[in-house]
Amino acid sequence: MTYWYDDVIVYGIDVKVFCDSNGDGFGDFRGLTGKLDYLTDLGIDCVWLLPFYPSPLRDNGYDVTDYCDVDPRLGTLDDFKAFMAAAKEHGIRVLIDLVANHTSSDHAWFQAARQDRESPYRDYYVWVDEPPPNTGKTPVFPGVEDSNWTYDAAADAHYWHYFYRHQPGLNHRNPKVREEFRKVMAFWLQLGVDGFRIDAAPMMIADKGTEDPFSQSRHAIVREMRAYAETINPEVVLLAEANTEPERLDEFFGSRTDADEMNMLFNFLLNVYIFLVLARGEAEQLHEFLRILPHTPENGQWLNFLRNHDELDLSRLTEAEREDVLAAFAPDPAMRAYDRGIRRRLAPMLNGDRRRMELAFSLLFSTPGTPLLMWGDEIGMGDDLSLEERESVRTPMQWSRDSNGGFSSAPAAKLFRPVIDKGDFGYQRVNVAAQQSDSQSFWHWMRRLMRCTHQLPELNHGEIDLIRADDSSVLVHASTWEGKTTITIHNLSAEPCRVHCHFEGYDLSQFEDVFDDQPYERVEGSVIELHGYGYRWLRSPAPQSD
Ligand code: MG
Repeated sequence: MTYWYDDVIVYGIDVKVFCDSNGDGFGDFRGLTGKLDYLTDLGIDCVWLLPFYPSPLRDNGYDVTDYCDVDPRLGTLDDFKAFMAAAKEHGIRVLIDLVANHTSSDHAWFQAARQDRESPYRDYYVWVDEPPPNTGKTPVFPGVEDSNWTYDAAADAHYWHYFYRHQPGLNHRNPKVREEFRKVMAFWLQLGVDGFRIDAAPMMIADKGTEDPFSQSRHAIVREMRAYAETINPEVVLLAEANTEPERLDEFFGSRTDADEMNMLFNFLLNVYIFLVLARGEAEQLHEFLRILPHTPENGQWLNFLRNHDELDLSRLTEAEREDVLAAFAPDPAMRAYDRGIRRRLAPMLNGDRRRMELAFSLLFSTPGTPLLMWGDEIGMGDDLSLEERESVRTPMQWSRDSNGGFSSAPAAKLFRPVIDKGDFGYQRVNVAAQQSDSQSFWHWMRRLMRCTHQLPELNHGEIDLIRADDSSVLVHASTWEGKTTITIHNLSAEPCRVHCHFEGYDLSQFEDVFDDQPYERVEGSVIELHGYGYRWLRSPAPQSD
């Protein structure tokens, strides 16, 4: 059996920086709706919308004040409905962010909770009169917040938060909180969304305020959400943001037998191992990771990505590995975030080197799982390190050479977030219109990559077979499904090579090149030729029918 989310390419969009239709400086749903033709043409068939709910925007919308509405700066509910109808017409699935771990401190629930100990909303959050010793030492943004407990004078008590102090953590042990989120899911599912990205999933289900606040003992909360959502849409997807230890990587899928929790998980480990091998020019760690990558349940899938809207989190690497990645991609401390990561987009990390950008995306699209791009990845957008924390990678989409990169007709000072307007990645140089008119551009390359991927279902459905190569810079793997095999070969090094590969069981003379960095001679025998940072995708012919 196959599932719709196995065969899509997902594109992450922050509506407020994508396209502004009314010139108020905020991207909006009408603007996004007008870009659906663009997304279809590019090859996108699923979008993930970052939070668009009413919010004071102290954390880019991950601080919600009303879960069943649209922030008025981004449009109205009717605009959202019109967007959904148009997305369906375009064959584009829609995932939305569900920020259930915490609310904004401005949310009416929290305001009621803090002002009255007897309020029914008091127990929506986690309060203590005095923080117990050995708790409160795990803030997610060290250097910005130094404790998980914050004292509230109106409440005369301390409340728990993993993230910023303006994001009080919700108490999901309270059945009323879980009931609230069932209502929220029902509301959006009835408007036609195809699923939810569950923000901060490990924190959502953890025992907040305890000595081990990441104990993740309450997976029943996820099972309950999934079972409920399926009563409304049997094809619903729950996608977890769960950046956990390698040995617990797959537990959010649910148990082996039941697979009744999340359908998709962001593949945070693949993410860091790709950057590690790009930094070192050696394939070994990625080969080893793919060897141990847990099999997904039949109805489960990885969502693979290079960069997202947050920092590139290197905390799962060893110190030596982390140092190598930082030295390669974030030599300046201003490029780093929270002592664990990098706050840059991909293209500037790779110095805009087209060969390495192609190599990185070729690796991403050929490894098992559904690929994710973020807005602007398809043109190699840059970052703005003058912005705070992770804002650096959340700059507006660069559509054209028009003012504000075509994102908005508002005066630049009125933009929600500035457009990158100088340097190698300024909109004057990097924009959609320019790349669309140049058949050799990165945009056209990305479009070809997506078209090719859509014709190779074995990449997402198939079993992966790692093939040994007699060169430590080269990664070779095969994916086979329903009689078709695609073998992909990547050279992580800047040096060209001729490498002997152990293709036992595959007759390469029958394979055709379907995607590569430059034309190559047809493969004869087991020696493969690759340019520096080169890649080749080879596909077997259709099986002979008897
Ligand atoms: Mg607007």
